[in-house]
Amino acid sequence: MKIIMLGAPGAGKGTQAKQIAAKYEIPHISTGDIFRANLKNGTELGKKAKVYMDQGLLVPDELTCDLVMDRIAQEDCARGFVLDGFPRTILQAEALTKALNNIGQAMDYAIDVDVPDENIVNRMSGRRACLNCGSTYHIVYNPTKTEGVCDVCGSQTVLREDDKPETVQKRLAVYHEQTQPLIDYYKKQNILKTVDGTKSMDEVFSDIVAILGE
Ligand code: ADP
Ligand code: ADP
Ligand code: ZN
Repeated sequence: MKIIMLGAPGAGKGTQAKQIAAKYEIPHISTGDIFRANLKNGTELGKKAKVYMDQGLLVPDELTCDLVMDRIAQEDCARGFVLDGFPRTILQAEALTKALNNIGQAMDYAIDVDVPDENIVNRMSGRRACLNCGSTYHIVYNPTKTEGVCDVCGSQTVLREDDKPETVQKRLAVYHEQTQPLIDYYKKQNILKTVDGTKSMDEVFSDIVAILGE
């Protein structure tokens, strides 16, 4: 099963993608996580990506596409995968379609987690991230057992630099301009499914399972 998660920053793509990956036993591929891991390890890619991420802008397509194509060609992706945060531009979507076409494959589902802008700022300002293991929490909706400490690995959780309100506004504008057109792109491919992302995390997941099958 090959799945794309669509939706605004903070809509809950990562939260749902992790659960999908666990239930259907497929890898969760998050480009944001890959960039942050590179940043942490001080790679050239990480340094280049940081400049864009800090401003709430998209990392250029040429730095992003090859990375994902290499990842989905790995053996653990043979049974499928869930893409979280990719594609984010029409050009990325076309690159993905073409790469899969070349091997006689296609994506199965593009799931749009629909959340209006007015809910997003609240989601983002309450998000806390563990930059060590990639776990994500929310101070109200999904708090850590001990405040500020990751349940999974015990590292400190932080408000991501790009989750501060000024950058969130920029990211939302970038989303509407560059990523939202993908909704139509996948509608035309007949694989678009929309879920109401304002429901609780568990309800959203049930709605997704109803689409993907038990
Ligand atoms: P969120 O989960 O809040 O939407 P991500 O972790 O997916 O945020 O992405 C964080 C940042 O990483 C983005 O604002 C962007 O700068 C960069 N990024 C992630 N994925 C992509 C992509 N597919 N294309 C370009 N930039 C990306
Ligand atoms: P994305 O990957 O789309 O940027 P996340 O999955 O990181 O979004 O979720 C953004 C924030 O909102 C996180 O703090 C997360 O815990 C919280 N969150 C996710 N889904 C829901 C939901 N259905 N209701 C309330 N909060 C949610
Ligand atoms: Zn952690």
